[in-house]
Amino acid sequence: MIDFSLPQELVDLKQRVDHFIREKIVPLERDPRQGPHGPGEDLRRELIALGRAAGLLSPHAPVKWGGLGLDHRAMAVVFEAAGWSPLGPLALNIMAPDEGNTNLLDKVATDEQKERWLRPLVAGEIRTAFSMTEPDDGAGSDPNLMKTTARRHGDEFVIAGRKWLISGASGASLNIVMARTLGEDGSDRGATMFLVDMDAPGFRIVRQLETLDSNMPGGHAEVEFDDVRVGAERILGQIGRGFRNAQVRLGPARLTHCMRWLGAARRCHAIAADYARRRHAFGKLIGEHQGVGFQLADNASDLHLCRLAIRHSAWLLDRGEKARNETSLCKVFCSEALGRVVDRSLQILGGLGITGDTVVERIYRDIRAFRIYDGPSEVHRFALARAIMSGDPALSDPIA
Ligand SMILES: Cc1cc2nc3c(=O)[nH]c(=O)nc-3n(C[C@H](O)[C@H](O)[C@H](O)COP(=O)(O)OP(=O)(O)OC[C@H]3O[C@@H](n4cnc5c(N)ncnc54)[C@H](O)[C@@H]3O)c2cc1C
Repeated sequence: MIDFSLPQELVDLKQRVDHFIREKIVPLERDPRQGPHGPGEDLRRELIALGRAAGLLSPHAPVKWGGLGLDHRAMAVVFEAAGWSPLGPLALNIMAPDEGNTNLLDKVATDEQKERWLRPLVAGEIRTAFSMTEPDDGAGSDPNLMKTTARRHGDEFVIAGRKWLISGASGASLNIVMARTLGEDGSDRGATMFLVDMDAPGFRIVRQLETLDSNMPGGHAEVEFDDVRVGAERILGQIGRGFRNAQVRLGPARLTHCMRWLGAARRCHAIAADYARRRHAFGKLIGEHQGVGFQLADNASDLHLCRLAIRHSAWLLDRGEKARNETSLCKVFCSEALGRVVDRSLQILGGLGITGDTVVERIYRDIRAFRIYDGPSEVHRFALARAIMSGDPALSDPIA
């Protein structure tokens, strides 16, 4: 039986995070050190310092590397509380892509690699990027289209290719790069991940992309690898296991996106509900008009169901199950349902919703990409449909 009750220490932790976000982080939301490519490094460091002082930094990371060592169920509660503010995940050092990279390094890196990159990452001292997607008909929804190569030359690998939509690349210290590995004879050895320094000769940021969202430090960039040479000690995991190890990162990362966005959508709903209880039109409060009241009711059910779906998937992961289909289902459902909550909240606010006077406008812009990154909804549905057609028992009759 699934137990959704929270132990007292988690209730206490949630209250501490709620209080921290409302008292220390929400007041910084209008800080001018933010632009179209996200919060600046100054502001990020200030947020990290606040998170550290509150004893809340890196709740997802193992204690050994300086984190709080929470399991997925506890993360669901803490990440949701942090998501209340667009700056909350930064203050707790649980923002993508660093949060997923922390998990990946913890699970796959050697002890030496962990000491060099995981420890400062968990301390919030460095930022990292994850480079998989490519322009020009390369890897995207279908990673098998990958064009970037890492060709073996003696003890080294020479990486050549382009990546784009790389979050946080500008200002990061480490780039985790996925490339198709070629032997010295040109034979295909499968995809491999490499740890590449951002100042490695041959690497450059081609351009900073102008995007709808603006919540990510460093924004999103197109980057180029022009024969970047790395030694074998820069292999993350094993040669040819890149796609498999990417799942180590992507499964939990899909779920943690849901957790953070649940907090953000709850904030939008709270702002809309408050407005609906104060604003009048046609002789009554707008919330008393069925058209608005029903939207609030739909928000409440979407939020409730998302929380249940997240906690169920978190529970499965804590039991050691891969839960690949469940995290896929959860990602599709939450990205769409939470997007609807934010959209309805903005509608209820009328013209105010379009302005920067509430945080809803910002969350509305930021949440849209959630239906695309870490697998567009259609690609998850495509994978789920294939599993159903192949007779997957859990998906063919999920209630059983
Ligand atoms: C804000 C943001 C941040 C990102 N950060 C990173 C990052 O840090 N690192 C990184 O490597 N990548 C990143 N990405 C890239 C992201 O992972 C890709 O956008 C995503 O995998 C989809 O690939 P694509 O954009 O090439 O879409 P395409 O592959 O061009 O697909 C376009 C559309 O085709 C449809 N489609 C595709 N396949 C199917 C199918 N089987 N059935 C039905 N419809 C289908 C979908 O609607 C899809 O949206 C980021 C993207 C965004 C938007």
